[in-house]
Amino acid sequence: MQGYIININRAKNEDLIITILSKENLQTVYRFYGARHGVINLGFKIDYELENSLKSSIPRLRDVLHLGFKWLNDRNRLRAWQDFISLFYQHLKQTQELEPFYFQLVDEAAHKWDKQNPKRIAIEIYTKILHYEGRLHVENICFLCGEKIESDISIIRGYLPTHKECSHTYSINRNSMFELYQNSSSLFLTDKEIDRLWYVLLEGL
Ligand SMILES: [Zn+2]
Repeated sequence: MQGYIININRAKNEDLIITILSKENLQTVYRFYGARHGVINLGFKIDYELENSLKSSIPRLRDVLHLGFKWLNDRNRLRAWQDFISLFYQHLKQTQELEPFYFQLVDEAAHKWDKQNPKRIAIEIYTKILHYEGRLHVENICFLCGEKIESDISIIRGYLPTHKECSHTYSINRNSMFELYQNSSSLFLTDKEIDRLWYVLLEGL
């Protein structure tokens, strides 16, 4: 099996409880501390086997192989990746069975994480999630006051559009934002706008 480590909790004696996003589900597994294990880190893609144990309801992780990406050596990209992938844990932790959609999106992001500004990749991926989950608000209406938005828009959590005067946050060019909404493309957004959208994204998926 293959999956991404989206959460790590320490248990007793340096053992770890790990949550893995795989194609079909979210799996919580146990990893015993031991010399023969390779390094495991948040965000890593791994190939692994599971072993069910009589003593515990949580399967045990074994035969772990780290499937590395070159950008893991880039400290800033790695940190952005870990911030991004942690969001999936918060978003999906109540679910067990999953559509392959989430794994495929994360995999798509990982394969191009060093090809451009990773914040852009994350933001584009996020609008695909919103679209998939039917949460993308493309109508030109302020979420806070219900009135039409005539000028630039300000974005709040869930990428909901608002008037700048209603949410008092940094505003974004309306056409550039609609290009993101409609085509999941960040092409027309400035780096400052991307920073704002990244900041909003870190509040949660
Ligand atoms: Zn408003």
